[in-house]
Amino acid sequence: MPASLQGELQPTVYRFKLGGFEAMTVLDSKGIREGLHPLYGANATAEEVQAQARLNNIDPNKLEHPNIPTLVNTGKELVLFDVGNGALPREYEQLKARMPAGNLVARLGQAGYKPEDIDVIVLTHGHPDHIGGLVEGGKPVFPKARYVFGAAEYDFWKKNEGVREARKFNQKLFMTICEPLADRSTFIKPGDEVVPGIRSVDAAGHSPGLMAYHIESEGKRFMITADTFTHYVMGVQKPEWHFDMDDDKDNAVATRKRMLDMLATDKLFVASFHMPFPGIGWIDKTASGYRWVPHSYQLNL
Ligand SMILES: [Zn+2]
Repeated sequence: MPASLQGELQPTVYRFKLGGFEAMTVLDSKGIREGLHPLYGANATAEEVQAQARLNNIDPNKLEHPNIPTLVNTGKELVLFDVGNGALPREYEQLKARMPAGNLVARLGQAGYKPEDIDVIVLTHGHPDHIGGLVEGGKPVFPKARYVFGAAEYDFWKKNEGVREARKFNQKLFMTICEPLADRSTFIKPGDEVVPGIRSVDAAGHSPGLMAYHIESEGKRFMITADTFTHYVMGVQKPEWHFDMDDDKDNAVATRKRMLDMLATDKLFVASFHMPFPGIGWIDKTASGYRWVPHSYQLNL
């Protein structure tokens, strides 16, 4: 009998030690998108974007777009950064074709965590793929968690001023999901501490109040960059290329350049929400700019 094809079998959770902390990245979901141009590099030509793709041995006309929340166990508390798509495509007709359903809870379960184990949920920003898994059927998915929002981000959605056309549905969604959680939430500024060892870093641009998070334990450091970079080639090698889903294009470019310099100079280990799974690695300076270097075994020693 011929061997039958079994389909994809790929890792979906990745746990590692970082000083006295443990961290884990979880593949909530992934989709295939048309692109790369003009989703990336609308301020460049399609030929330039496709040439950059070929240079990196990736398809010039479509891309894989994963969603990867990070969980940090400080030894005292379990802190989850972003929650993926959750039940959004099941609960909202207009999202059905646009995003896959999230698998965060199931995959946390495979790694030994129950929803009620999560103590703190940090929302890096308010886009659907980051807040979608907070509630299902109107109920909080993580029943014991408290929430942390960037104050600027929360205020932007709540005030509902200057929201661009493409984000109007997002604004309604944010208020539906997040406003009922406000009494269990704290609202922080760049530089504030979430819990000992975890501090916010301004990364505004992709969204008005996007925050990165700097994690430090026993001298080991890493940065959760969230959506500062949304593609490991486009955002890193060509930070000046616009990304269609960046709400403030110029500010997003400035933030990418500032963050790339910091990450490369400080040799900071990075966890990034939309990089290829497990979404962890480094930024290296090259002769012409920067490149993403995936983790190999450095953290396992
Ligand atoms: Zn995102």
